[in-house]
Parts: sequence; C-alpha cells; structure tokens
Amino acid sequence: MNRIPNSLHASDIAHSMHPYTNMRAHEQQGPMIITKGDGIHVYDSEGKEYIEGMAGLWSVAVGFSESRIAEAAYKQMLELPYYHSFAHKAHAPSIKLAEKLVEMTPEGLNRVFFTNSGSEANDTVIKMVWFMNNALGRPEKKKFLARNKGYHGITIASGSLTGLPGNHKDFDLPAIPVIHLTCPHHWKWAEPGESEAEFTARLLKEAEDTILSEGPETIAAFIGEPVMGAGGVMTPPEGYWPGIAELCKKYDILLVSDEVINGFGRLGTPFGCQKYGFEPDILVTSKQLTSSYMPLAAILVNDKVYNPIADNTEKLGTFGHGFTGSGHPVACAAGLENLAIIEEKDLMGNAARMEAPFQAMVQSFADHPLVGEARGTGLIAGLELVADKASKTAFSPIGKVAAAVARAAQDHGLICRSVYETVALCPPLIINESDIERIGQRLGTALDEGHAWAKAEGFL
Ligand code: PMP
Repeated sequence: MNRIPNSLHASDIAHSMHPYTNMRAHEQQGPMIITKGDGIHVYDSEGKEYIEGMAGLWSVAVGFSESRIAEAAYKQMLELPYYHSFAHKAHAPSIKLAEKLVEMTPEGLNRVFFTNSGSEANDTVIKMVWFMNNALGRPEKKKFLARNKGYHGITIASGSLTGLPGNHKDFDLPAIPVIHLTCPHHWKWAEPGESEAEFTARLLKEAEDTILSEGPETIAAFIGEPVMGAGGVMTPPEGYWPGIAELCKKYDILLVSDEVINGFGRLGTPFGCQKYGFEPDILVTSKQLTSSYMPLAAILVNDKVYNPIADNTEKLGTFGHGFTGSGHPVACAAGLENLAIIEEKDLMGNAARMEAPFQAMVQSFADHPLVGEARGTGLIAGLELVADKASKTAFSPIGKVAAAVARAAQDHGLICRSVYETVALCPPLIINESDIERIGQRLGTALDEGHAWAKAEGFL
C-alpha cells in the first residue's frame, strides 16, 4: 500500500510500539491512520471509507458516531470527572450500571465488579476464585480448566488462560496452573468419521478424565467463551455446554462464561450462555458494554462466589484488589448510555433479525476454492482458508493467505481480521441488509484476489 508520509505517519513509525504488530514490518509500511467514524464506517487519513466489518475489535455495537454517548461522557466529566470506589466510596454512574447489569444478565448473577479491560477482568476472576477457595479452607482448589484456541486476555494470568501459542511462546506463559482442553470445534478437531455427538461425548470424557486425574479437589473453575472469538470464531458442538455445566456441578467447579465478545446480543441472544443453555457462576463482559467508546469491563458473580468472599473480608478486613479506574464514572456513564441505545434501538433484536441474511452471505462463500469452512452464528463469522478442501490441510506457513485476503478486503473498503488462517467478521449490531450485501461483494472480491495471490506466491 502506497501511503503518502505525513507527520503523524512518520511520528508513529519513529515512536509507537503497536499491539499485535510486527514491528519491523510496521517500520516499513507505517500506520493506517483512522480519523473518523460514521455509523458502520470509518475513514482513514486519506479520506477513504471502509465498512468496519469487525466493529473495531469485536466491540462497537452502536456504530462509530453515537453522539449521545459522547454527550453522556462529557456531562459526567463536567459533573464528576473521576472518583474511585475503594473503601466504601461510590458514585451514581457505577451504582446505576451495576444495577442495570444485574437486571440484564441471567437470574442469580447479583454482584458486579468493574475493571478497565477484559484481561483485567479475567485476572480478577482468577483472584476472586482463589480468594474464595482460600476463604472456604480449600487452598489446594486453584487450577483452571480452559480450552486450546480460547482467548481470555494477555496479562500474565489471563494470558495463561488463553490457549493460543502466540500468546504463550516467548512470553514464558502459562504462569498459573491451567489445563487446556481440546478446542470444541468439530470441523477441525473431530477424528475422521467422528459425528458431532461422538465428538461432544469425547470432549466431555476428556474434561471428566482430566478432572479425575488431577483431582476434583484441585480444580477451581472452568472458563470458556460460549462462541470462541479471537481464536478463530468457533461455535461449539451440540450438547457441549450443558455437558460441561453438568460436570462443573458434579465436581463443585465454578463455571465462568467469558462473554467479552459474546455479550449484549452478538450471538442473537442477550448473552451467549442463554443461547447454549447453561448458567454460569461468573459472567465476564466488556467491549459491547460501552461499544468500546470508553474502556470498561464488568464481572458478574452469583451468591455462591460472593458470600465466601464477603465472609472472608470480615476476617481480613478487606478484599485487597481493585484498580484506580475500577468503575470509572465517565466509562460507566458511557456504558449506561450505550446500553440505553442498544435497548431503545432494539439492537439485540436487530442482531437476531440480521443473523439469517448475514450467515447466508457468509455461507455463500462455502464453495469458494480457498474456503475450508464457512461458519458462524448471530453476527459473528469466520471463513477458514485451506490449501486442500478435502483433507482440510492448512496453508504453510499458516496465516499468510488469510492476511492477504484481509489486505485485499481493506483495499476494497472492508475491514475484516485475519486470525491464523481464518478471516473473521463481526460487524456493528446496527447493520442492515444492504450493508450485508456490500460486505458480501467486497469480501467476494477479496477472496478472489487472495486466491490469485496464493497461486502466484506458490501457496496453491
Ligand atoms: N476475553 C475475551 C473473550 C476477549 O475476546 C478478549 C479481547 N479480545 C479479552 C478477554 C481481553 O480483553 P481486553 O483486550 O480488553 O483485555
């Protein structure tokens, strides 16, 4: 891409370290500077318009131009720009947002703890669970069960729960006791000829065997995303979640639903656990909570988790955990306004209504020569690219072809994201049928160009 250097461009190359970026490559190609947003679109510094097919980072439910959220944040900043919630202090925005979240989430999740990010939220979950088990006099019950390809963040502890090699290798992780089970994705991980029901049964047996061999008295919690997002958009096989929930009950293991991507209508239901029929003890939300207009995450816990923690603080005097920004009033005000917009515009209903045309568009690429599997649910989808459809053989080295497709899509005005060899889509919840059609056109062109590129580069 030939971008005219401007001072921001040069300055970025000279000074910035970007997350999830190849730094030497960045020094060569420089940044794509996004300057404004409008609905489902964003614009770069050269005025080019893009459909934001990823809603930023799976997060901007209401689109990129909701002035109501800006006004709510501004009003809050004028009134009380900052206060904390340590040591019995409180302010209206965090109180109201906690109440709202308890009202919106499944029955029984009665308490809310705020952090600034999903990673901090999952770190907090780990510490809460450890604190709880110490309080209950079972200090050996500390291990987490997670899944390969799961994504739970990048801090030392949440990054340990994440099940992706790129987040572990070279960072000396995992650093906490965590066991990663098989990724619950039938197309990729089933044995040849194994039906979906057999696959589910095998994964549940693996989970139970692991619990028994480790000792149930050592396993504190199971954490998973109802639909896996950042690992490549993978929907679980039928019966998987109810089976996992049953095992957790049987062995007194807490069930944590990481809904940082899934929450607030992304899957066509308010929360992912509702779609797959399980009741978590802990639910983690972020992203669409504020549409990422401000950084914020919330952990909801039931009484089973809350009470031992509260009882223990009576002994210790305090729950020694919290962030300067926990429940930041401006972030909470933005969150409240964002949730009001989601409700008033019935964006969760819109996501459910748009599921059929969106997934039909995604399925229309199932027969494309590059596509091994077209999958998704609600308003999240992935196209996994393969070198050979019949054997499902991945391209080698992995990730280059999906990146080429994402690059081509961007050239044609569609931002999507390549995750290993999957091209992911996760558009804002405000999307309509004609937007979906335009995404389909641009994606189709990108796949064709990616195919031609893969041939020219010797990948096919
Ligand atoms: N959990 C899930 C399911 C996520 O998708 C993410 C971010 N993609 C996180 C946790 C971490 O959130 P953050 O980037 O805000 O730390």
